[in-house]
Amino acid sequence: MTKAHKTDVRSRYKVLPGTTVDLKRIDTSETGAFKSPKEGKKALKKRRKQLRDLQERFYAWNQKAMLIVLQGMDTAGKDGTIKHVMSGVNPQGVTVTSFKQPSSEELAHDYLWRIHKAVPKRSMIGIFNRSHYEDVLVVRVHNLVPPEVWERRYEQINAFEKILVENDVIILKFFLHLSYDEQARRLQARLDNPEKRWKFSANDLKERALWDDYIAAYTDALQKCSTPYAPWYIVPADVKWYRNYVVGQIIVETLEEINPQFPEPERGLDAIKIV
Ligand code: AMP
Ligand code: MG
Repeated sequence: MTKAHKTDVRSRYKVLPGTTVDLKRIDTSETGAFKSPKEGKKALKKRRKQLRDLQERFYAWNQKAMLIVLQGMDTAGKDGTIKHVMSGVNPQGVTVTSFKQPSSEELAHDYLWRIHKAVPKRSMIGIFNRSHYEDVLVVRVHNLVPPEVWERRYEQINAFEKILVENDVIILKFFLHLSYDEQARRLQARLDNPEKRWKFSANDLKERALWDDYIAAYTDALQKCSTPYAPWYIVPADVKWYRNYVVGQIIVETLEEINPQFPEPERGLDAIKIV
């Protein structure tokens, strides 16, 4: 793999604010400059080790929180990414929140209420498996609220995320971009594998039938809500090891730039001898 590629993963996949996104023209199956899966998996392993060290510093540093948003169609690999990228990281410094259909109590509040409560505190890395973006995705596709309600949400989400960023939350948003064909293979694999069957829901097929509507909704979310302070990244997700590598690499690059440091120890410790 070339050095140019290695140092360029963030800018390669970032949605530049104000640009148009055409998801159909973005390759979901690319594997970057790796010559083999073996090479890619080795790079991921290295990223994981770097992430473990960086997270330890980030936790001790205690100056900022990091919010990682994962979105994608069913089977795009939201769970798998969390498992593979974060394995080895100290669980004390990480929270994972999976957003399901809102409860009646959640529905009685504004849609950001449950989200804000789950935002990580300083020192923590918080991962959202689905997020407030469902409120402009599934909610829009299924007409759960009228258009004039969800149309306002893009701006509201940008304002909400700005408040978080201005209050020490670093935000990274990943859209795991899967192809229609690869989803078919993965759904079939869920049906065929007894240990994966529990993940299959007949509802997945109903959602699959709405693929184009979801693509349209995702396109708007990516275009309207990729901001300089909270960018979206479009991650090719057909090849699992590459998807994991890209997400890991972008988190590592971001943390390296922040360069968290262990706090200064108390003065005078040199003179202390424990007896
Ligand atoms: P899973 O991630 O497979 O466990 O499924 C969670 C389900 O909850 C998905 O079908 C989501 O679309 C749905 N969901 C998540 N957030 C919302 C929301 N705000 N409104 C309606 N459905 C949602
Ligand atoms: Mg599901």
